[in-house]
This record gives sequence, structure tokens and C-alpha cells, in this order.
Amino acid sequence: LLISEIFFSIEGETEFQGLPCIFVRTAGCNLSCSYCDSPGSRSFSSGRELAITDILTIIKKYACSLICITGGEPLLQKDINPLLEILIKNNYQILLETNGSRSVADLPAGIIKIIDVKTPSSGQAENFYRKNLLFLEGKDHLKYIIGCREDFDFTLDFIAKNHLEEKINIVQPVYGKLAVNDLAGWVLDCGKKIRVQIQLHKLAGLP
Ligand code: SF4
Repeated sequence: LLISEIFFSIEGETEFQGLPCIFVRTAGCNLSCSYCDSPGSRSFSSGRELAITDILTIIKKYACSLICITGGEPLLQKDINPLLEILIKNNYQILLETNGSRSVADLPAGIIKIIDVKTPSSGQAENFYRKNLLFLEGKDHLKYIIGCREDFDFTLDFIAKNHLEEKINIVQPVYGKLAVNDLAGWVLDCGKKIRVQIQLHKLAGLP
């Protein structure tokens, strides 16, 4: 697999926010979001080829059983499923972050999928792979990065049209662009069960 970096930090998002977590960041992405916060991993050439055994050796150095596979876009790596299967066998709990443009149908069972729904200000909203909504399971999350009121209205509409009210829906402000209290106010006004999150690792100055 092409790996950009492997590091140990605090999970800054999701229902696992605040927990120590090992991050495996793959290299290469098929999208170009306006607010991309990991531009260093967008190109395939930013990664180095690591075998699954090499990745396992690195992550075993950390006393932690939670892993976040992120990118770039992890689902572009042809050996992603063999990696996930080995991690499952080694009793890791796995969060897999995907940009929402690739099918999640063939992922092994037991992975918690964190699926981005790109909003209009990302410039990538048309790339959402809609069939992924059929594969949402209990703990999977839908994540919406909100840069403006139009993005929030898009999110409300998306949740309503696709009957996603009972799913885990998380909204996050674009870092440095939208104030979290504005976003929190919109959530309170809309009366929906939507979770507001800010990226804890950024507040803490962590990677
Ligand atoms: S999907 Fe993620 S890595 Fe790719 S451009 Fe968007 S924010 Fe950056």
C-alpha cells in the first residue's frame, strides 16, 4: 500500500473523539476539496510503498487497539481489504474514513465507516457515491464539513431526502472559516439530532 504516514495521536472526531488512536494515512486522493486539510497526502507520489507486514510491525509499537485508516482516500489502495482483514484478526477496532466517492460495499464486516458527504462549498458534492447509503450499519457515521449556511441547508435536505435521521450525522465547521457557535446555533434551531464536532486534535495542536 502507498502510505503517507503512520502516527499515534488523539482521535479528534467521531464518537471515539478523545481516545488515543493509531492513524494510518494512505497517499493519493481522487478529489480536490476546497478546504483540504491533508494536502500533503493528496498525491500518490507523497506515499511510500509498505507491505502489510511492515504496517503491522509499525503499529504494534503503540499500546493501542484503536486504528483510524484515513487519507488521501484509503479505498483507492488495492490492498486495503487484506490490510483491514489482518487488522481485524489482530483484534484492532477500526475506523475507516472515506471521502464518499468510492463504494464501501466490499469492506470486511466489523469496520466502522466514517463516510464524508461532500457539501457544495467543497466543490465535490457531485462525487458522492449514493449507493453507499445502502451499506450503512449501526455504528457508521456520516460526516458533513460545513463552510457556510448553504452547506448546512444542503445537509438538512440530504438527511431528510434519504431518511437518515436515525444515523450518526456529524457536522463540523471548516476550520478557520465558520465559527462553531454559528454552526451550533443552526443545529439548535433545526431541531434535528445532529452532532456538532470540532476537531479536538487541532485545538490540542496534535497531528
Ligand atoms: S477527500 Fe480528503 S484528502 Fe481528498 S481532497 Fe478532500 S479533504 Fe483532501
